[in-house]
Amino acid sequence: MAFDIDHFRVKPDEQLDLSELDPGDTPFWDADHKKEGRERLLELNDRLEELQELLWANGQERVLVILQAMDAGGKDGTIRHVFDGVNPSGVRVASFKRPSSRELAHDYLWRVHMEVPGDGELTIFNRSHYEDVLVVRVEGLVPEKRWEKRYDHIVAFEQMLADEGTTIVKLFLHISKAEQRERLQARLDEPDKNWKFDPGDLVTRVKWDDYQEAFQDALSRTSTASAPWYVIPADRKWYRNLAISEILIQTLEALDMSYPAPAEGLDEITIPD
Ligand code: ATP
Ligand code: MG
Repeated sequence: MAFDIDHFRVKPDEQLDLSELDPGDTPFWDADHKKEGRERLLELNDRLEELQELLWANGQERVLVILQAMDAGGKDGTIRHVFDGVNPSGVRVASFKRPSSRELAHDYLWRVHMEVPGDGELTIFNRSHYEDVLVVRVEGLVPEKRWEKRYDHIVAFEQMLADEGTTIVKLFLHISKAEQRERLQARLDEPDKNWKFDPGDLVTRVKWDDYQEAFQDALSRTSTASAPWYVIPADRKWYRNLAISEILIQTLEALDMSYPAPAEGLDEITIPD
């Protein structure tokens, strides 16, 4: 069955209820066909590679992919598996960690604007300015009267980027609380995953419901025609990769890009011995 990516899209003005969306769901794919799903991903990897090459050669479009999730939600795995094979020259990952003192001395979009893609580039934000209405809101890092205004800023900022030629795709990796427990437990149990265990993630886990509510508000208030949010059922990693690849490929295909016209007279050129 063909993937209808609109199914995952948060409609503008929709009040999203994350508790109604099953993180284990596999729309447009049979949940038992995991092996086939993995094989399909390899084909999609090839197609994404071609489209990214075209984006780079065409040099007129800019693509921004924003990844947000709870801890252990699969942002890193997504980057590794979905972008497997793309040409690193035109793809960049920008990770947004706790702001430095220099960053905190500026407005919250200052560090973000600097990282947006230029012509021909595809940039992946691993976390983003959305942290400024997520962790900042839940942990009360700035007063409500300040973060409350940020939804409107963000919509305006992203609209500006879109108006100036940036295609924006925002992906929320939706995992269940039970799946997060398993993944955090694996980080404790498996020696080669120990390095990923961050005790701070447990502090965040305790506030699961507050974070879900903050995500719900952020997604509902900032999903626009120019910068849509997609909610990805992400408990099954193979399915998550498949759904995200489909969304990116269909979005890039819609740009209808072409290779630059060859220089005149190429057919008359002979390469000298
Ligand atoms: P992993 O999933 O591998 O742990 P990560 O994205 O969680 O990767 P970390 O270095 O563990 O990376 O965490 C980054 C931390 O920075 C997160 O806890 C995030 O909430 C926090 N952070 C990011 N942006 C901001 C911000 N603007 N204000 C406060 N905290 C922020
Ligand atoms: Mg972390």
